[in-house]
Amino acid sequence: LKSLMNDPSLLSTKAFVAGEWVDAKNGETFPVTNPARGDVLVNLPDLDVADATRAIDAAYAVQKDWAAHTGKERAAILRKWYDLIVENKDDLGMILTAEMGKPITEAVGEILYSASFIEWFGEEAKRIYGETIPGHQRDKRITVLKEPVGVVASITPWNFPSAMIARKVAPALAAGCTFVARPAKETPLSALALAALAERAGVPKGVFSVVTSSKARPIGKEFCENPKVRKLTFTGSTEVGRILMAQCAPQIMKLSLELGGNAPFIVFDDADVDAAVQGALISKFRNNGQTCVCSNRIYVQEGVYEEFSKKLAAEVNKMVVGDGLIEGVTTGPLIDMGGLEKVEEHIEDATSKGARIIAGGKRHALGSTFFEPTVLADVTSQMLVTNEETFGPLAPLFKFKTEEEVLAAANDTIYGLASYFYSNDLNRVVRMQEGLEYGIVGVNTGLISTEVAPFGGVKQSGLGREGSHHGIEDFVEMKYICTNIT
Ligand code: ADP
Repeated sequence: LKSLMNDPSLLSTKAFVAGEWVDAKNGETFPVTNPARGDVLVNLPDLDVADATRAIDAAYAVQKDWAAHTGKERAAILRKWYDLIVENKDDLGMILTAEMGKPITEAVGEILYSASFIEWFGEEAKRIYGETIPGHQRDKRITVLKEPVGVVASITPWNFPSAMIARKVAPALAAGCTFVARPAKETPLSALALAALAERAGVPKGVFSVVTSSKARPIGKEFCENPKVRKLTFTGSTEVGRILMAQCAPQIMKLSLELGGNAPFIVFDDADVDAAVQGALISKFRNNGQTCVCSNRIYVQEGVYEEFSKKLAAEVNKMVVGDGLIEGVTTGPLIDMGGLEKVEEHIEDATSKGARIIAGGKRHALGSTFFEPTVLADVTSQMLVTNEETFGPLAPLFKFKTEEEVLAAANDTIYGLASYFYSNDLNRVVRMQEGLEYGIVGVNTGLISTEVAPFGGVKQSGLGREGSHHGIEDFVEMKYICTNIT
């Protein structure tokens, strides 16, 4: 990998704690492997709780000074960081593909998406406005300040190794918070590369640390229990989100949670079917189905069901599976065997209950964790895939008759992150927008992610929003000041 890179120093072999590039005290390491080839890319320091504490102490020690920078000063540093990420996008993309598996074009896309949060929130750093409120008595003056929350800790998953951290650290730093990240053990290299560029951009020592560790639970506990940490921001499963929420309860820690989804994708008879097929491809198969906004249940109205299934299967058969570093590959490997087995389990369960495979359906000839992009027809609500996120390249098609029926089915889940529908009937569009119990609704589009909009879920999909001008609010506290004048 290093031989392909312009700047091989971006592929780190050390962790970044309190502004220093460090090894574990006892020399312990854990391997980061390339899921497409199975080879070990790097052995990284397997840090322990004491290192996490050190990172938190450093973040705590420098937070007031970081917050004392003007918004414009913080913005200038974030802008520099943004420029460096864009300059190095090809190297960063290669690191991302190597550790995570997604095709290089998607990886570079993720890097630019990450950069966009740093640019956006850098700009917002100048505009964290307070408020003056007309007093309730003649001698009272009321002002509201927005102050940084303090030290923020983050726990992130492997599916977007760069973007999930960028959209947390950017608003945090913009607001004047300091930040300690624990990236997923599968994909810590992109986080370290971001930290290397942050250092070059002039982010002061201790403001941003990356704690690499295979020990998720004890590090997570420290993040929740250390009184110097004032906020935890997490992206991952609802199960782990619940555990972290409970762990944060004793110190009433502020929390942002981006958890699981079970996105419905609905195609009505009055939709543009070709556009819906393209939307389904993007929303289902991007990142090989491994995103929390991937459509998980595709509902197609009976009048266009045959046409849609045929066209979708034909497109899916054109997808090219392989090592994401090879040009022309559209679909990489799954992250690990567990991920692959879940896809198989969902297919076996559905076919045993009457579903038909109309594209793919089995492990790919390339072996390891490569799987054929799959479409299942005649799926019903009795099948596992209705209630569980597959997190893989499986598109299950449900047939429906009426709008009322499909809206009820779409909302019949504990999750409420993303939803999508295709229709060209204006009245139906408005009814559906209002009826879907989701934090995000894509109307005639399968792609909804952007730094300028508030991303987040309702119900058991989480708390808080990331991105947009609202995103900064999760990292500030309001201070109400009542002044009595004589
Ligand atoms: P995913 O299936 O996407 O990996 P998880 O919720 O299992 O979702 O994991 C998301 C992140 O949370 C990963 O970095 C993982 O290591 C971490 N994690 C898992 N369990 C815990 C825990 N009990 N405490 C802290 N972090 C955890």
